Amino acid sequence: MLLSKQKGGTMKRREWIFIMPPATYEISCSICGGEVQWSEYQHKVWCWRCLKDTPGNPGIFGGPISLEACEIIGLCLDKIDLKTGERLYIKIKDGKVVWEKEK
Ligand SMILES: [Zn+2]
Repeated sequence: MLLSKQKGGTMKRREWIFIMPPATYEISCSICGGEVQWSEYQHKVWCWRCLKDTPGNPGIFGGPISLEACEIIGLCLDKIDLKTGERLYIKIKDGKVVWEKEK
């Protein structure tokens, strides 16, 4: 496991990112409100204006999300596995949300 020491503790590197950019999920910088990209660290986004990783605003993840509603508005919650570059498709299995390679 790759760990990188930062102020305030250790931050884990991301193993995946969502397939769409943070702005698609209404996530913005928690400091300046500007546009962000996925950080290389989990639970963080990178702000080009502040030049740092911030927790970001939760965007649509701040509340319960309905997969059906996401589909209707064209929001894709699939992930990219950063190790393999493979796309992981979101599914509901036995009432739980899972991500799998097969569509
Ligand atoms: Zn910012």
